[in-house]
Amino acid sequence: MIDFTAEPADLVAAEVSACERVLRSGLWVLGGEVASFEKEWARWLDVEEAVGCGNGLDAIEIALRCLGIGDGHEVVTTPMTAFATVLAVIRSGATPVLADVDMKTAMLDPKSVERCIGRRTRAILLVHLYGRIGPVEELRDLAASHGLDLIEDCAQAHGASLGGRAAGSFGRMAAWSFYPTKTLGAVGDGGAVTTRELELADRARAIRNYGQVARYQHQYVGMNSRLDEIQAALLRERFRFLPAWIERRRTIARAYVQAIKNPDVEVAAIPSEPNTHAFHLFVVMCRQREQLRQHLSGRGIQSIVHYPVPIHRQKPCFGIARDTEGLTIAEAHSERCLSLPCHPHLTDEDVGRVIEAVNSFKG
Ligand SMILES: *Cc1c(COP(=O)(O)O)cnc(C)c1O
Repeated sequence: MIDFTAEPADLVAAEVSACERVLRSGLWVLGGEVASFEKEWARWLDVEEAVGCGNGLDAIEIALRCLGIGDGHEVVTTPMTAFATVLAVIRSGATPVLADVDMKTAMLDPKSVERCIGRRTRAILLVHLYGRIGPVEELRDLAASHGLDLIEDCAQAHGASLGGRAAGSFGRMAAWSFYPTKTLGAVGDGGAVTTRELELADRARAIRNYGQVARYQHQYVGMNSRLDEIQAALLRERFRFLPAWIERRRTIARAYVQAIKNPDVEVAAIPSEPNTHAFHLFVVMCRQREQLRQHLSGRGIQSIVHYPVPIHRQKPCFGIARDTEGLTIAEAHSERCLSLPCHPHLTDEDVGRVIEAVNSFKG
């Protein structure tokens, strides 16, 4: 799905010298590279604060803890996501409640979310799935009318925006992952939380570092989730390529939407406001998904299912609370969705081969 060895030679050279810069600095944890990356990331999103941390899972947990969400509280979120989304809620001590998703986008359906809100609900955790902005306006209104916080899981949302506002700037806090396969990835694990509120950012800085506010002064039950200097320095180099990478993803997605013509393969149109989708993943729907996968694989084309098993069908979540009307749309989606290769290092020829392979599939 992604060929990291195909990355541009000038990027690789810049990364090697970034590593050397950090090595020779003698400062390897929470130094200048992390501070600079945080500033650059916040500026790009046009939010006040970014706080680096160990990974996307921790970023969600830190966001929840910053907002005082834990034991005895409920957080409404989606069954159609990476397991980490729900795991972070469980780890915070809060109880996840799963709402069903929208048929078209596979993202939280505000009507179902509303049915899941109860006395203990403290937050709505929205995942911008596949790199597309979710129903932020509806959910922000819903959250406001019930006195809840909106938190954004932006692990797939790098580069997505709505009305000129970046993903991550709609809720009170947002969580980012820089896992290598993400649209901006580190060369290992990395994550961040972002917010407009200085006080929340200060709390996040403490929580990622044992809850320490000054040396040996611990104000919170924190954790160890620091972004290290090497990853921050690498992220800064990779960040310079990000706008072009996102453009390339959008170009590939437009080519797929235009040229894939197969009655057995459903392809969603490009959103009318095209920047709302940054195509972290390009997902098609197919009733004969396994046959389609095999057909592609026979032509040397990889594909992956995001996600074949919704959260409530994962063993630790069998008994998880959910919309009383069920999660039938999420279940149907998980049976048909298939992600085609969509990353910046695909050549036009690769894209043509994917199109040709999908079009020659007979279900
Ligand atoms: C990748 C991902 C995460 C977890 O990020 P890690 O850095 O792997 O911990 C969380 N939520 C979503 C939607 C993701 O895609």
